[in-house]
Amino acid sequence: MDTDVSATKTLKVALLGAGNVGSQVARVLLDDAETLAARTGARLELVGIAVRNVDAPREVELPRELYTTDASALVRDADIVIELMGGLEPAKTLILEAIEHGATVVTGNKALLAVDGPALYEKADAAGVQLSYEAAVAGAIPILRPITDSLAGDKITRVMGIVNGTTNFILDAMDSTGAEFSDALAEATRLGYAEADPTADIEGHDAAAKGAILASLAFHTRFALEDVHCEGITGVTAGDIASAKEAGYVIKLLAIAEKISTPSKGGTDDAGRPASGVSVRVHPTLIPREHPLGAVRGAFNAVFVEAENAGELMFYGRGAGGAPTASAIMGDVVSAARRLVLGGPGRTDSTIEVLPVLPIDAVATRYYIGMDAADQPGVLSKIAALFAENGVSIETMRQTVHREPGEAAGPGSAELRFVTHRAGEAALAATVEAINGLDIINSITSVLRVEGV
Ligand code: NAP
Repeated sequence: MDTDVSATKTLKVALLGAGNVGSQVARVLLDDAETLAARTGARLELVGIAVRNVDAPREVELPRELYTTDASALVRDADIVIELMGGLEPAKTLILEAIEHGATVVTGNKALLAVDGPALYEKADAAGVQLSYEAAVAGAIPILRPITDSLAGDKITRVMGIVNGTTNFILDAMDSTGAEFSDALAEATRLGYAEADPTADIEGHDAAAKGAILASLAFHTRFALEDVHCEGITGVTAGDIASAKEAGYVIKLLAIAEKISTPSKGGTDDAGRPASGVSVRVHPTLIPREHPLGAVRGAFNAVFVEAENAGELMFYGRGAGGAPTASAIMGDVVSAARRLVLGGPGRTDSTIEVLPVLPIDAVATRYYIGMDAADQPGVLSKIAALFAENGVSIETMRQTVHREPGEAAGPGSAELRFVTHRAGEAALAATVEAINGLDIINSITSVLRVEGV
C-alpha cells in the first residue's frame, strides 16, 4: 500500500459545503487518508464541514460531529480551506477570512471567480497565500495546472474550449436527432443536464466565466468577465445545424482566447486599436467534424491548446459531477499540502504581461452565412459582387433550390450557404447588411463564425 509513516506534520482542512462536490471531497479525505499522507508528507485532518442544515439527509454518510453551521469559526482555524458552497456570499467573505488567517484556499466557485476573481487573487498574492481553482474550469479535466505549470516554458497562442456541458449536450442532441433548440433544452432538463433556470448556460455566461479564467492563465494577464465577448446558443436553429452538417461542420459553443497581432504603426492598427492583444470570446462556432473538438459528444468538455513549441494539445473529460469535480479539488489540495510541507505557499499564476483586451471587431475569422433568396437568374452574381465590394472573399458556396421537379426558376426560393475566407468583423457586418438590403433576399438565416480549419 502507498503509505508513508514519516508523515508527521498535520494540516487542518476545513470544508465549506457538503453538496454534490463537497460530500465527495469529504469521502476522499476520510477514506484515502493514508494515501494522501503518503503523497503529501502530511496528515490531512478534516476538522469540520460547514453546511446550512446539519440534519439534512445526504447521499454520502459522514461523521455527524464534523458538521457545523459556524463556517467562520472553521475557517479561522484551518491550514487549508476548501470552499464548495457556491454562490457569491458568504463564500467570498469566508475566502477573504481564510486568506487573512494565512490559510491556503481551494475553490471550484466559477461564479464567484467570474465576478470577484481579480480582487481575490490580489488579496491572496498580497497575503502570500495560495488560491487554487482547477475545478472551476472543465470540472475533472486537469487544464489550469497544465497551462500554468507544464506549459510555463512555452508560449500559448490560442485556447479553444468546450467548457459548458449543458450547451454541448443540447447542440449534440440537435446535431444527432435534428431537434430544434427548445426540444433539445427540454430533454437536457428532463435528464438533469440543464438546471431549472438554464440562463447562465444557454446564454454563454458560464462559458464566459471559464473563458476569462483560461485567458488570464494562458496569457498572464487578468481578464474579467466583462472583457469576454459573449453570445449564447438560443439562436441556433435546427436549420443551422443541418446546413453545417451537410457542409462537413458541427456547431459547438466555444470559449476562445487568442493572441492577435496586426501590422501596426506606432503600436496601433488602422482603426486605432492596440495592434497586439488578446481576444476572449464565447460564441456558437462551426468547426470541421474531423477536428478533435468536433468529436466531443454529450455533456463532455474539452480544451484545445495551441502553443509555439508544443503545437496542438487536447484535454478531454467530464466537466461536472460530484466525484469528477472532487478529483480536481483534491489535486489542488494535494499540491497545496505538498507546498505547505516544503514550507511555502509558492506561486502558481503570474500576471506579468498585462496585454490589452481586443474588442470582437479586431478578430478576423472565417464566417458561415446562410440566406434564403429568390430563385432567379443573376442572384448569385449580385451577392458575389457585394462580397467583393466589402473585401470579403468566398471560400465555398452551396445552393439548395426549393422547386418542384420540372418547374422553371421564378416563384420558388433558394437556400444559399457561404463560407468565407478570413474576414474582419466590420467587413463581414457590412457585407451582411448590404446583402440583406437586396430585394432578392428573403432573409439572412444565420451568420456564424468558423474555426479550426
Ligand atoms: P451544492 O450541491 O448546492 O452544495 C452546496 C453546499 O454548500 C451544501 O452542502 C450547502 O449546505 C452548503 N451551503 C450553501 N450555502 C451555505 C451557507 N450560506 N452556509 C453554510 N453552508 C452553505 O453545490 P455543488 O454542486 O457541490 O457545487 C459546489 C461548488 O462547486 C459550486 O461553486 C459549483 O459551481 C462548483 N462546481 C460544481 C460542479 C458540479 O458538477 N456540481 C462542477 C464544477 C464546479 P446544505 O447541504 O445544508 O444545504
